[in-house]
Amino acid sequence: MSADKLYDAAVIGTGPAGASAALALARRGLAVLLLEKAALPRYKTCGGGILQRAYQLLPPEMAHVVERTFNSVELNFLGTNLHFVATRTEPMVYMVMRAEMDCLLAHAARDAGARLIESCPVKNVRVKAESVELATAQGNFRAQFVVAADGVYSPTAKALGWADLPALAPALEYELHLPAEDLARFSQRPRFDFNGSAAGYAWVFPKRDHLSVGILSTRRPCPDLPAQLMKYLAQLGITRIQKMEKHGYFIPLAPRREPLARGRVLLAGDAAGLVDPVTAEGISHALLSGQLAATALAEGSLDVRRVAGHYQSLLEQNILGELRAGRLLAKVLYNYPRVRHWAFRAQGKALSDFVAGIVMGERNYASALKSPASYLKMFGRKGG
Ligand SMILES: Cc1cc2nc3c(=O)[nH]c(=O)nc-3n(C[C@H](O)[C@H](O)[C@H](O)COP(=O)(O)OP(=O)(O)OC[C@H]3O[C@@H](n4cnc5c(N)ncnc54)[C@H](O)[C@@H]3O)c2cc1C
Repeated sequence: MSADKLYDAAVIGTGPAGASAALALARRGLAVLLLEKAALPRYKTCGGGILQRAYQLLPPEMAHVVERTFNSVELNFLGTNLHFVATRTEPMVYMVMRAEMDCLLAHAARDAGARLIESCPVKNVRVKAESVELATAQGNFRAQFVVAADGVYSPTAKALGWADLPALAPALEYELHLPAEDLARFSQRPRFDFNGSAAGYAWVFPKRDHLSVGILSTRRPCPDLPAQLMKYLAQLGITRIQKMEKHGYFIPLAPRREPLARGRVLLAGDAAGLVDPVTAEGISHALLSGQLAATALAEGSLDVRRVAGHYQSLLEQNILGELRAGRLLAKVLYNYPRVRHWAFRAQGKALSDFVAGIVMGERNYASALKSPASYLKMFGRKGG
C-alpha cells in the first residue's frame, strides 16, 4: 500500500456516527477523509425516528429533510387496556428517511472541508507506528487516526481483532404504502406497541406518504419475526397494502466489552454498540459518539498516547454509564412482562412521562437509578 497525503483522520462510514465525526473534525480545521462504501443517498434499514435529544445534535439544515414532526407519542400494551399518550409542547420526534438524512449530513461534512468519497468500500486497514493505511476500492489512503463508524457489522473492528458485539437484536423495517384513509388512521402520532413481539416491541412511524412499520426482539433464539410482524399488521387492521418493501438488520443493544479505542483507531456508533437498550434508539449516541471522537482527537492534539484514553473517558462520562443503567431497566421491561404490566397499571402515566423526559434529553436512566426517592415518588409513596 502507498499513499501520499497524510490526513489527520479518516472516517469510515457516512451514518450519523461517521458523518457527525467528519463534520465536527472539519469544523475544527482538521484534514479529514470521509469514506462510504455506497453511493449516496443510500437506503438504511431504520425507522427514521429522530428523538428530540438526537435532533439537538444535528445542524439546523436537517429541517430540510424532516417529513413530519410530532409533539406526542403513543405507548400501547396489546391485549390489555393499557394505552398511554405522552405529549409535550415541543416536538418529541422528527420523522426522516435515513437516505436523505445521512446524505445531508455527509454533504454538510464535505461543505465544512472534509473530503468525501462515495462508492468506496474500505477493504483493508493496517495500523502502523506513525499512521493507519487504508486500502479501498478507489485506491490507498493514509491518516494519523481512523474513526470506524462502519455500522453494526464493522469490518474494521473485526479486522483489527475486537471481539464480536455481545447483544445483537434482530429487527425488521417494512416501508408500507396504503390507501389514503388507512394511512390517515395511523398519521396522528408514532406508536410503540408491546406484546406484539417476544421480548421486544413493534412500532408504526408515519412518514409523508407511507408508514415505516417495524419489530424487534431481544430473545435468543430469535422468534419468527416476519410472521410476528404480519400478525401485528393484522392486529392493527392493516390489510389493504398497496406496496411493501421489506428490510431487516441488527441493533446492537450492548457495547463491546473491550475499550472502544486502541491506539490510532476509535469505534463510534453501532460499530461500538452504543444503542439505548431501553428504546433501541441508536441515532442519539451515534451522533454523540462521532462528536466525542472529534473532541478526543482535537483535545488530544492527535497524540497517539492521549487520544484513545481521552475518547474512552469521554464515552464513559457521556454514554457508557447511561447504557449500564439502561440495561437494568431494559431487563425488567423486556424479560418480565408481568412486572412491566404491574408497573404500567400502577403508574403508567408517570412512567410514560419518564420515557418522554428521556426522549427529550431532559432526563437520563443513570440519575433516575441513583435516586431511589424518584421510584417512591413514582409509585405514590413518600421518600425518607
Ligand atoms: C430496523 C431498525 C430500525 C431502527 N430505527 C431507529 C429509529 O427509528 N431511531 C433511531 O434512533 N435508531 C434506529 N435504529 C438504530 C439506528 O439505525 C442505528 O443505531 C444507527 O444507524 C447507527 O448509526 P452508525 O452511523 O453507527 O451506523 P450506520 O448508520 O449503520 O452507518 C454505517 C455506514 O458505514 C458504511 N460502511 C460499512 N462498511 C463500510 C466499509 N467497509 N467502507 C466504507 N463504508 C462502510 C455503511 O454503508 C453505512 O453508511 C434502527 C435500527 C434498525 C435495524
